[in-house]
Order: sequence, then structure tokens, then C-alpha cells
Amino acid sequence: MVKNIYDFIILGAGGTGLAAAMYGARLGLKTLVLGKASGSELPVGGVITTTDIVENYPGFIKLTGQELAKKLEDHARAYDLVEIKEEEANDVSKINGGFSVKTKKGDYEAKTILFATGTKVRKLPDEVKGAKEFERKGVNYCALCDGPLYKGKTVAVIGGADASAKDALLLSQYATKVYMIYRGEKIHPEPVNLEKIEANKKIEIINNSNVVEVKGDKLVNEVVLDKEFKGSKNLKVDGIFVAIGHLVLSDLAKKIGVGIDEKGEIKIDHKTSATNVSGAFSAGDVTDKQFKQLITGVADGCTAAYSAYEYIGGLKSFK
Ligand SMILES: Cc1cc2nc3c(=O)[nH]c(=O)nc-3n(C[C@H](O)[C@H](O)[C@H](O)COP(=O)(O)OP(=O)(O)OC[C@H]3O[C@@H](n4cnc5c(N)ncnc54)[C@H](O)[C@@H]3O)c2cc1C
Repeated sequence: MVKNIYDFIILGAGGTGLAAAMYGARLGLKTLVLGKASGSELPVGGVITTTDIVENYPGFIKLTGQELAKKLEDHARAYDLVEIKEEEANDVSKINGGFSVKTKKGDYEAKTILFATGTKVRKLPDEVKGAKEFERKGVNYCALCDGPLYKGKTVAVIGGADASAKDALLLSQYATKVYMIYRGEKIHPEPVNLEKIEANKKIEIINNSNVVEVKGDKLVNEVVLDKEFKGSKNLKVDGIFVAIGHLVLSDLAKKIGVGIDEKGEIKIDHKTSATNVSGAFSAGDVTDKQFKQLITGVADGCTAAYSAYEYIGGLKSFK
């Protein structure tokens, strides 16, 4: 069988991977992007395609996530050196002079590899009736992105950790009322955020409660709780923000000895996007970077491509 050999192989065809491909090709790297993950069902473009409106990507005042993803994809495809295959990487190994990646359809080799596999949102469990039906119709998974749509409205954040508290604080800048619904005894954000939550008159905490159903007409208009709150299990809301965590897709990186932190995020050198494994880079939502947005993923994807170029050319030592 003829081997397909590349300079740069990118796992993940989200914004990060596509930007890295474009940049790699500009630097003369023969680049392959593999993009698809079982379970995530994300198309080329990645998770940004799951949001309606993007208003914070420089250069575009307002466009849909899908439009933006298509622009990133077209930009990558504009280079003959880029190939994008909608295949899931099932196995990665180190070989002499680089890396080998296997999919169901092929066996690929490259001198350098970029893990841009992103994350999977931890969604409300299937037992919560209506959660799936109302996704993007009031059931949201990104407060930073979709919070401004709820100006003057009532929302609920599901979750009790620091991220949920920060979401509630952010949402209180737009919404007139923000409930925090938490299944445990007491929400547990960082003390500084707990103080801010307690001082915020718009935020009300509902502890020891689970959402069992999301209801609405075309859009969400209420949730049903498993316990009464102020005499009723039905709570009127215009939208909910689910902040019960993310699942990082870093298993393949782990297989070749790439270092991850306690959250499963790939540890990178934030100057170069290099991992602890020579020739292996990582960027975007799968990494241990703090501020995870499309623009920061795209920037780091470009940094990773440049580092791969330097690595291949022996222009810099990454150890
Ligand atoms: C609802 C929502 C709204 C958002 N709105 C905004 C916004 O308005 N502005 C903003 O800047 N950011 C926004 N974000 C955040 C932004 O979408 C992400 O930070 C960014 O898209 C991450 O890109 P990524 O390429 O690193 O990861 P992803 O987009 O998750 O891409 C990773 C890709 O890798 C693929 N993959 C995983 N494993 C494999 C494998 N084994 N083989 C092949 N492919 C694999 C996945 O299928 C996926 O396509 C939003 C996020 C969400 C969830």
C-alpha cells in the first residue's frame, strides 16, 4: 500500500485546525486535516457551527457560526497543500521521524502533528425531557457567546461550580433575573465569586434541585424542577445556560505520552503551542489555555503551524 506522507497532520477540523492548516500551507507544509469525532457529530468547522450568531470575531460585526466556519474552511481549502478528510483518527503512534495516524479509511504519516481535537460539551442528560428538543431554542451551552441575546429577560444557569457562577455573573449584566439551579447542598465557586454572587441582587440560588423538564412553545418558556421552589415546581424562564462541564478530547494525545493536566487538558508551552513530545503540538479548546474562544484557538493554531515549520526546518529547539 502507498503511504500518505505529510509534513503536518492536524487532528480536528474546527476553527483551530482549519486556521493551522491555512497557515501551515502558507509556510509550505504539506498538510492533512482529519476532522470528525464519534459522538460529537460536528461538521467541518467544529463547535462554532453550533451557535447562531457570532458578534465577537474581529472583522465581522455579525454572522452565523456556520458562515464563519465556512469562511475558515474555504480559506484552508484555497491552498493546494491542504487536504481535508472527514475521517476520525482512531489511533496515533510515534514512528521514526514523526507520527502515524490511522483512520478507518487510511494510514497517514507526518513529521509533525497538531492535536486540535477540542472538547465535547457535557450536555443535560437524556432523562431531562425537552433538553434536546430546545437546544439552540433557549437551551444554551455558552453564556459568553449567547448571554447578550437575553437582555431584559429571565434565565437560569444549571450548575454550581466556579464556571457556573461566572456565567451567572456575566448573565446578570444582560438579564433582569438569573437563577442558579444546583443539585447539591450549596454552590461551590471560588470564594471571591461566591461573594459577588451573594452581593448580586439579580441572582437567586436554588440549591438541592434538578431540572427534570424543559418546556416551551417555539422557544423555552419554563423549566420543571424536581422540588418545589416558592410553592411551585414550574419556573418561568426565557432560557437556560447549562454549565455542567466539558469533556476534553485528549485521549489520542495521551497515547503518545503527551502531558495532560488534572482536567484532561493538553499541557502546552503557551509561547509555541508545543507539547512535551517532540514534534507534537496542540492548540484550541483541548489545551490548558484559560480563555477559550474561536479567535484565541485560531491564533494558537497559527502559532502551532509556525512552530511545526520551525521544528521541521530545524530552526528552533523545542526541548
Ligand atoms: C454554543 C457555543 C457558542 C460559542 N460562541 C462563540 C462566539 O460567539 N465567539 C467565539 O469566539 N467563540 C465562541 N464559542 C467558543 C468557540 O466555538 C471555541 O472556542 C472554538 O470553536 C474551539 O475551536 P477548536 O477548533 O479548538 O475546537 P472544536 O471546534 O471543538 O473542533 C475540534 C474538532 O476536532 C474534531 N475531532 C475531535 N476528535 C477527533 C478525532 N479523533 N479525529 C478527527 N477529528 C476529531 C471534532 O469533531 C471537532 O470538529 C462558542 C462555543 C459554543 C459551544
